Amino acid sequence: MGKFRTLDDLGDLTGKVALVRVDLNMPMSDGAVTDLTRAEASRPTVLELAAKGAKVLLLSHFGRPKGERNSTMSVSMAQGALEQVLGCEVMFIPEVAGPVAAQAIDILRPGDVGLLENTRFWPGEEANDMDFARAIAANADLFVNDAFSAAHRAHASTEALAHLLPAYAGRSMEAELKALDAALGNPQPPVAAVVGGAKVSSKLAVLEHLVGKVQHLIIGGGMANTFLAARGVDVGKSLCEHDLAAKAEAIMQAADAAGCTVHLPYDVVVAKEFAANPPSLRICNVHEVAVDEMILDVGPLAVEALGDVLKTCATLVWNGPLGAFETPPFDNATVALARMAAALTAEGSLISVAGGGDTVAALNHAGAAGDFTFVSTAGGAFLEWMEGRELPGVAALTTA
Ligand code: ADP
Ligand code: MG
Repeated sequence: MGKFRTLDDLGDLTGKVALVRVDLNMPMSDGAVTDLTRAEASRPTVLELAAKGAKVLLLSHFGRPKGERNSTMSVSMAQGALEQVLGCEVMFIPEVAGPVAAQAIDILRPGDVGLLENTRFWPGEEANDMDFARAIAANADLFVNDAFSAAHRAHASTEALAHLLPAYAGRSMEAELKALDAALGNPQPPVAAVVGGAKVSSKLAVLEHLVGKVQHLIIGGGMANTFLAARGVDVGKSLCEHDLAAKAEAIMQAADAAGCTVHLPYDVVVAKEFAANPPSLRICNVHEVAVDEMILDVGPLAVEALGDVLKTCATLVWNGPLGAFETPPFDNATVALARMAAALTAEGSLISVAGGGDTVAALNHAGAAGDFTFVSTAGGAFLEWMEGRELPGVAALTTA
């Protein structure tokens, strides 16, 4: 990981305008924010800059308005949630640049917080247009990017701006980058990766990257079926991408060559129908799945063995549930392994980093998220990072 400047590199900012890219793209229902996580993530940076005397100007995308103003996607809908989380007034400014924005920014006093309109109302945002970015930068003295979750996009507010103003990583971005570096960039070995979820196809690049990075690759979820099938196991009517058998085989061979042990389940939880607690539920060896059964979770013996693997590891990175965890009892394996990882982390023997929309939901469901070293709420950015790709928003902050 390259070097980047942080808020530690900033002194007194009295009267300076700090433009802060945050991610306020929060889930809404009936005009109210239903999950404040992202507003909360921006809090340390905003309050720190305000305490240094800056006029703090927040910049975010919201939804997909495709380069046009759209009143149903105004960032002003996040204003109330922000005020609640920050504990101060937030002035909404219905522009991102130009004289109206400049006037509003003039009115702000040192330590005040302003909220600019949805960056995606202007086509220059997604086009990463330099002139658009220049117009925004004209009203500011420095740029702080605190939106890791948007860093996989090369947009004006995530990329171009970092080249036009002195650029810094915010506290949330900084924490994310440090955690990810500790998990995969520069991890303490041995490293285990858990990759689960529905399909191999959505995570091929992740698996290909991980075999060269980790000592143990634990494959669960629907995607394990594709690997089992590639090894000649009859997976019945399980979710399985048979056309990816050759790819799965190639990944297992690359793992062998790199000294990475691939762990596939050897017992599984199966049912004839996908429903909560179905009468046909049973646990069996992977070689005993009937033609009319489907694999919906990793079995208890395999989970115990996976727990033993984690005990030998210093680092864990986790993306994807081990089973169809939304439907009981197919959450058992995910919950059990998540709790083992949480306990090892709490004991201090494991550094554990997890990410992914459903993964975060599953870890919360297990009551394990709080004990993980770090849980990333960045969906797409987290996956691209797991693929070993350089994120444009991060690269633009990098100074050396
Ligand atoms: P994330 O959002 O954390 O990246 P994914 O979206 O890749 O995770 O995968 C989550 C989905 O995978 C869940 O909806 C879960 O029900 C599904 N899944 C896991 N195991 C199975 C399985 N054996 N059969 C069918 N679906 C599964
Ligand atoms: Mg998902």
